Amino acid sequence: MDAFALEGRVALVTGGNGGIGLGMASGLLEAGATVLIVGRNAAKNNRAVKELSQPTRRVKAIEVDIALDGGGDVAVKAAIDSFGRLDILINNAGTNIRRQPQDYGVAEWRMLIDTNLTSAFLCSKAAYAHMRSTGGKIINIGSMTSLFGTSFSAAYGASKGGIVQLTKALASAWAKDNIQVNAVLPGWIDTDLTRGARKDVTDLHDKVLARTPAGRWGVPSDLAGVAIFLASKASDFITGAAIPVDGGYSAQG
Ligand code: NDP
Repeated sequence: MDAFALEGRVALVTGGNGGIGLGMASGLLEAGATVLIVGRNAAKNNRAVKELSQPTRRVKAIEVDIALDGGGDVAVKAAIDSFGRLDILINNAGTNIRRQPQDYGVAEWRMLIDTNLTSAFLCSKAAYAHMRSTGGKIINIGSMTSLFGTSFSAAYGASKGGIVQLTKALASAWAKDNIQVNAVLPGWIDTDLTRGARKDVTDLHDKVLARTPAGRWGVPSDLAGVAIFLASKASDFITGAAIPVDGGYSAQG
């Protein structure tokens, strides 16, 4: 038996049409899973499905804004309607607005918490209704800001700190249902999100290079292996963990 095989498993990946989500969706498909991608932008969804499609693969995308009330229910229902089951949920969709803390408006604060944290809770809750009878795997995407403070990301950091505690709470509650819930904390990965950060934050590119022992920025495919591992039987006794995938960024003092 291949402990990492995902044949017969159905995965829902929020924010799977680009960046880290696309890298993880690609890994899950490679390991044999069927994947439903969730994103708001129809053109990006179509591009991702085209890029991921191969004759032996089952992959679809759905347009949903998971920051809206009911978004998680719609996404989970789409997975069940399309593929008949749900085994793996990756709560990856996320965004950021970079400002000094005193400059956030309350609407911006709420949008960031809703998109990055509340959506993970609501998607997980919707998934639990199905996974409680079958078992399952939930993977929440945190960040280095789950561990460290930054002057320019108070709302984002609060949401990502919350992701780690949400992960531990869900892991504790749902272990009895054979649902493992873990978090992945990416380091600095080259995506649309961090291309924006490099415009907003002076010298970010070089500062990240200097601080990362691996000596490079990550790429979305660096997240494929951990997604397969946490989605597979290989990780059945791991729950409530928060695993950095950061080229050593968080290890270096
Ligand atoms: P991208 O901006 O490249 O991708 C974000 C994805 O989320 C897109 O697919 C986007 O699709 C989707 N998305 C955003 N908001 C919503 C929404 N309201 N409803 C549905 N989908 C949404 O970012 P990354 O790939 O870099 O980030 C992915 C995750 O990884 C995020 O949670 C981010 O915080 C986290 N992360 C990223 C790091 C990095 O260095 N890149 C480091 C640490 C964590 P669409 O626009 O179509 O809605």
